[in-house]
Amino acid sequence: MNQNNSPLGDEGMKVLKFGGTSVANAENIQKVINIVKSNEEPQIVVVSALGGVTDLLIKVGTLAEKSDETFRDVLQQLEKKHLDTARALLPVMHQSSCLSMIKQQFNELEEICNSVFYLCELSLRTKDRIIAFGELLSSKIISALMQATGVEHEWIDSRKVIKTNSNFGFAAVNFGVTNDLISYTITAAHKKLFIVPGFIASDENGNTTTLGRGGSDYTAAIFAAAMNASSLEIWTDVTGMMTADPRWVPNAKTINRISYQEAMELSHFGAKVIYPPTIQPVMQKSIPTWIKNTFESEKAGTVIEEFHFPLGEGGEDGGIITGISSINAIALLSLEGSGMVGIPGFSKRLFEALANEKINVILITQSSSEHSICVAVNTADADKAKEAVDRAFEIEIAQGKVEPLKVELGHSIIALVGDKMKSHPGISGRMFDALGRNGINVRAIAQGSSERNISAVIASDDVKKGVNVLHEAFFESTFKQLNIFIVGVGNVGSKLLSQLKQQQPFLSEHLNLQARITGIANSKKMLFVDNGNDVNLDNWKDTLEKGEAMQLNKFVDTIIEKNLRNSVFVDVTADETVATVYAKLLSKAVSVVACNKIAASSSYQNYAHLKSLAKEYNALYLFETNVGAGLPVIGTLNDLRRSGDKVNKIQAVLSGTLNFVFNHYDGTRPFADVVRQAQDEGYTEPDPRLDLGGTDVMRKIMILAREAGEHIEMEDIINNTFLPASCFEGNVEDFYKEMLKHEDHFKKLYDEAASKNCKLKFVASFETTPSGGGGASVGLQHIPSNSDFYHLYGKDNIVLFYTQRYPEQPLVVKGAGAGADVTASGVFADIIRVARV
Ligand code: ADP
Ligand code: ASP
Ligand code: MG
Repeated sequence: MNQNNSPLGDEGMKVLKFGGTSVANAENIQKVINIVKSNEEPQIVVVSALGGVTDLLIKVGTLAEKSDETFRDVLQQLEKKHLDTARALLPVMHQSSCLSMIKQQFNELEEICNSVFYLCELSLRTKDRIIAFGELLSSKIISALMQATGVEHEWIDSRKVIKTNSNFGFAAVNFGVTNDLISYTITAAHKKLFIVPGFIASDENGNTTTLGRGGSDYTAAIFAAAMNASSLEIWTDVTGMMTADPRWVPNAKTINRISYQEAMELSHFGAKVIYPPTIQPVMQKSIPTWIKNTFESEKAGTVIEEFHFPLGEGGEDGGIITGISSINAIALLSLEGSGMVGIPGFSKRLFEALANEKINVILITQSSSEHSICVAVNTADADKAKEAVDRAFEIEIAQGKVEPLKVELGHSIIALVGDKMKSHPGISGRMFDALGRNGINVRAIAQGSSERNISAVIASDDVKKGVNVLHEAFFESTFKQLNIFIVGVGNVGSKLLSQLKQQQPFLSEHLNLQARITGIANSKKMLFVDNGNDVNLDNWKDTLEKGEAMQLNKFVDTIIEKNLRNSVFVDVTADETVATVYAKLLSKAVSVVACNKIAASSSYQNYAHLKSLAKEYNALYLFETNVGAGLPVIGTLNDLRRSGDKVNKIQAVLSGTLNFVFNHYDGTRPFADVVRQAQDEGYTEPDPRLDLGGTDVMRKIMILAREAGEHIEMEDIINNTFLPASCFEGNVEDFYKEMLKHEDHFKKLYDEAASKNCKLKFVASFETTPSGGGGASVGLQHIPSNSDFYHLYGKDNIVLFYTQRYPEQPLVVKGAGAGADVTASGVFADIIRVARV
């Protein structure tokens, strides 16, 4: 048929299709009627079955086949639904003929189901007859309503005009016959409005067939193409084709304009909003096709039409990717074996075997070096495929040249689609980087030869996360969601929560970061919030109080099960057990931010293992607050090294406790009293010997030495302790007594320094030797007034980095190195670092 040969002369004709939700009940149907009535042009209105009806009809058939009497209950439920809808729509005086039509249809349907019930057999042919009732009923009810309101129209039985082969359930259209029948029927009727049931057709023998699930869209496209319609409008429950399925990605946005090819790819890869075969007929006739929302009819929606982007240019919004879609219930089939190399016709035989069974191959990858071909099919086809392929390669399998077909279930396909990909290299890199960063393993990859799509097979458990991750990477480059799980909400932890609360609006406005607190725990209780929500930071204490009993393993497992993108575990405890869960989390690509020093200062092997896990799984393991609280000490060191500098020496005063003690001790009151004051004011560990004995400082200098590249253990650090040996015996109270006994010793330390006009500071040093390795030590030193360490007050810490670039005058980091507020802000900064990689 040629393009300008409209049977209605110059007058354009529109085809409108209303989906299941649009006609789900009387209220919605009323909206449909209003849309139809607001149209001036002649129109063909194609309707789906009332929402959910096709599924229920299938259920009726399968129950009857299993001789399950309850099929009658479902039938009754269906009948009631249709009767109720008709009653609600039609004025009473017009109801009776419609109600008796519905009853008559259900009688007929019941008879068919009874035969299925008695024969215990449901052929595809009978199934099509059963499910056809959905569209027949909905279209007839709407037609009755039109009639009752005096709207002149004609109801057309699509089975009379759409002719197909006898592939029941998924029949192929005979376009030659169909186009003529449609154009003849419509032209002969001389009406401006036609009501048509979607989805159904008939074969050469007049048996009812259907066009595949979602096929009403296709019916509409067939009518539009046959009539050279001026446009096709698919009216549904979302405002257009969106950048991703809005049920999964709340930030998905409407695509204003999309090419036929892109729409075809997106729907092929699972964007259910349009049934894939729909595009072909309208594309051939260049009929612009709109996707519009019945419930927001004023919005433009999406137009699918012919257009090309000038090479190298972005789309309307500058983006390269048009949309992301996914298909669930995918089985991966792999045919492997050395016998495959170089033998021509191998893949032909594989695909023939699948085609003979009418198995649709969704994605193909082939690797000659690995002697394997991998294809993705629907899970429902997996058994059939296995049987067919193993049969086709029976001989090679028996000879050991080929392995029996390997079938792996539980997969999904995720696809990026965009016409502009062709002119923009690096898309797949970005795609796999984003997936990898979130611990999503890619099993197989394919790129369409048109370079219009890249698709990847991933585990179904990861698919929702994957779609969100990609959406964030390609459509929300300016917006990112961070899912934060915090263990330890004591002093530092609660400060962190209040900083997060205060800063959330800034983060979202200026960094486009949505920092969600998804789980919190203290040693007694734990609390998680469901998808999409945050822990309410106004009353988290009360809510946590009501939470479930804390079990660390369960907390960790829940994080892993939730499988949320950009997950970060924050350890604000000093707990040894909490430090043992990092490895498990990192190997699930969950980043770890630790205020807890235990892991970074444990054995070198453990430290290095955690670092390498982080690298391997693209997660971050950050512990800036392990040294100098919120001061940028580790960050600075890392920056120096990353930019090619080499550390020669680090000298530092890293203990707030020891600073306090030596800033306050001048021999006028006992050393033990000053230590007691430090403990009372919260500057010390519960056992102050950890600070005074130098262990805490040793840990810190060891962490710095490790970050500078040194394989160093605690035993390698020389501790020139100033505490007499007897101080390490007994409990904390014994320690205080021992200090009193040794007051002379402490006084002497002070006097010796004071006599030289020096102050006492507990200094940590690390130095690399020219031969490579390095040594570290900690101990009290006399600090003269010209030293960088001399003017160090309160809780200040100081770190001097002597490097190749800073050989004589060191790079100095100095400031408050203890306190809940600054520590919390250091943890906060690490959390933000996770978001900004
Ligand atoms: P109808 O019954 O109107 O034919 P469908 O349920 O078949 O409606 O299709 C509409 C649904 O498709 C939407 O509700 C939405 O959840 C889903 N969908 C999946 N992917 C997309 C996408 N990319 N854009 C819009 N909707 C999508
Ligand atoms: N009612 C059919 C289905 O649910 C066809 C359609 O709605 O497009 O698959
Ligand atoms: Mg649909």
